[in-house]
Amino acid sequence: MIMLRSAFVFIGLLSVTLCAHAQDAPHYELHFDAQTQMLAVHLCLLQAHAKVEFAADAETEMHYLHDLQRSSDNGVEAGASAWSAEHWRPGECLSYNADLGAIASANEQDVGWHLGENLVTAPQLWLLRPDVQGNADAALRIALPAGWSISAPWHEQPAPPAVAALGKSVLFSIPNTPANWSAAVAIGHFDEERIELPGGVLRLTILHGADAEQRTKLRDWLAHVSRAVLSAYGRLPLADVQVLMIPVGQLGLASRAVAAVAPHAVHFGQSIRGQGNALELLVDPSRSAAEFDDDWVAVHELSHLMHPYLGDRGSWLAEGLATYYQNILRARAGLLTPAQAWDRLQEGFSRGEAQQGAGTLEQAAADMHRSHAFQRIYWSGAAYWLTVDRDLRHASGGKLSMELALSRFRDCCLPSYRQWQPEDFVAKLDGLLGVQTFSQRYREFSTMQQFPDWKKLYTELGIRIDGKRLTLDAAAVDAAAREAITAARPTPAAESR
Ligand SMILES: [Zn+2]
Repeated sequence: MIMLRSAFVFIGLLSVTLCAHAQDAPHYELHFDAQTQMLAVHLCLLQAHAKVEFAADAETEMHYLHDLQRSSDNGVEAGASAWSAEHWRPGECLSYNADLGAIASANEQDVGWHLGENLVTAPQLWLLRPDVQGNADAALRIALPAGWSISAPWHEQPAPPAVAALGKSVLFSIPNTPANWSAAVAIGHFDEERIELPGGVLRLTILHGADAEQRTKLRDWLAHVSRAVLSAYGRLPLADVQVLMIPVGQLGLASRAVAAVAPHAVHFGQSIRGQGNALELLVDPSRSAAEFDDDWVAVHELSHLMHPYLGDRGSWLAEGLATYYQNILRARAGLLTPAQAWDRLQEGFSRGEAQQGAGTLEQAAADMHRSHAFQRIYWSGAAYWLTVDRDLRHASGGKLSMELALSRFRDCCLPSYRQWQPEDFVAKLDGLLGVQTFSQRYREFSTMQQFPDWKKLYTELGIRIDGKRLTLDAAAVDAAAREAITAARPTPAAESR
């Protein structure tokens, strides 16, 4: 036993030594100039390298970066999509200026926006990555002018007192995520508010276009609906999440027109995973608190934090989880009655069933951005999770559930900064409960050519619909599972400061 352990220690040391040269974590120092809207970047590497390539994660737009130079006298060569530097010395730095103002002026998703005096930019466009970084996370420090703040998906680190005394300077570590994952960094005049919850914090920034009263309403709403997400397993799925709320009407004429034609509290939401985890919500601050509470988008996006990125092929599984939970978790938190939750699921299943498409569910999901079979994909996925949740409760007499598997998944595997194959995700959930339900149902659903038989499932759960009337039958075979699925959970109140 002891021999075995020392062998493992030896192998462990060896692998660290072998990796040391392949992974050179970059250190970034950033200074933002509010007048010119230029960001001066110094990127330093500790080790010597024969050659280093520096590229932005986004392939385009090398022209946003200017004045590249090295701290040694050696040169830096511009290529088609990257810069290269030979004979790199230990501790050497590359410096350049990034034109954040120009990036924000694009007013385009995944590039940037100007929102009043605030600049939102995709860091993939201006944070050059050295090819010697390997899997290491980067460290970054930014100095901001007085009155300016930053909101980023990166993880803030406690600043040493000496650094804090020098003025507004923030330290971060940057999770190493795939290059094509979206991210947004906001710099401007705002206060990032921390909504502290069991298991983590939501860092909320409301960007321009909401008055003080509306800001309070939006913050209270997020704190309120995040209780619904806690009703899954009592904790936020991730320790640290950036939340950007963008008031509708700030993104140009088109969004103002949409807001006028189709009034909603929440117009759009997305969960993005580049360089950390973030939610973006496009909101109409003029709508009432009751309309915000009635909206499902925030709970849907927060539910996406519970699973890793599953790729296009696994999008039905990911969207299904969020679509199922947007109704079920809101019932648990008292934002819907159980009957309302089952009714909304039923309406979704009916819409999904009406949208027939060619091919299997997996093929439709892999091709979603061309086929636009969103209803079929989202609601087939929701039927998968309802089926699995019912199966687990049924077979275990209520001891097992999908939230127990997801809670254990949080402990073993989140945050996850890489893509998972959907088969690996369901196999992991099975392993965490010692069952095969997730994988068996996965194989069944992913190959379905038709919409799943949700009416049979509803009959077994004791949910009857006569015309517009929905009744719940306590004598049905899976009535106990149905009641347990929507039963209220005790959830601690959110605190914000
Ligand atoms: Zn979604």
